Amino acid sequence: VPPSARVVERCAAHPARPAADHCPRCGRPRCAPDRDNGGSRGCLLCPVPVRPVGPVEVLVRAGLAGYATAAVGGWIATQYVGVHVMSLLVPAVVGLAVAASASAACGRPSDAIRRAVTLVAAAAALLGVGLGFRLFPISPVESAALVAAPYACALAGVLAWPILFGPVRRRPADVSAERGPSPAA
Ligand SMILES: [Zn+2]
Ligand SMILES: [Zn+2]
Repeated sequence: VPPSARVVERCAAHPARPAADHCPRCGRPRCAPDRDNGGSRGCLLCPVPVRPVGPVEVLVRAGLAGYATAAVGGWIATQYVGVHVMSLLVPAVVGLAVAASASAACGRPSDAIRRAVTLVAAAAALLGVGLGFRLFPISPVESAALVAAPYACALAGVLAWPILFGPVRRRPADVSAERGPSPAA
């Protein structure tokens, strides 16, 4: 192969420029100006560093999003208090929606925080359904026969959300590998 035909490595961000080195963070070839500007911090194409978010911030975000959804859901639920199947279906949908918005607001937290977010979402969903009763207007804790099932459906909605739409769960094999070999193996 004649030298002129050799492919000279090019800067990943500026294909017109030859590469001077490789980015220490992502390994992409980068040109001399990029190397001088970026140094050890990386190149123009490096993924933006993700700012770590503390658990409190995650829960506050989840709570705000969850309560906002719950307020809207509770307002809708007032239309359906005591209305046959809808009085159960609407709280369940409120629970799903609250869990969805709380979860969407907090990104991809750890398992422990995810459980806490579920608790926050459950509290928000109960509050939303309770608000629905309050606006109806009956006391949110008045007649257990009327309010118990909708509250339960709201909780079921919150708990169902991660099962139906949540992040991809780890395969059982991964979990058992973490716990060590089972006695049967
Ligand atoms: Zn470049
Ligand atoms: Zn890079």
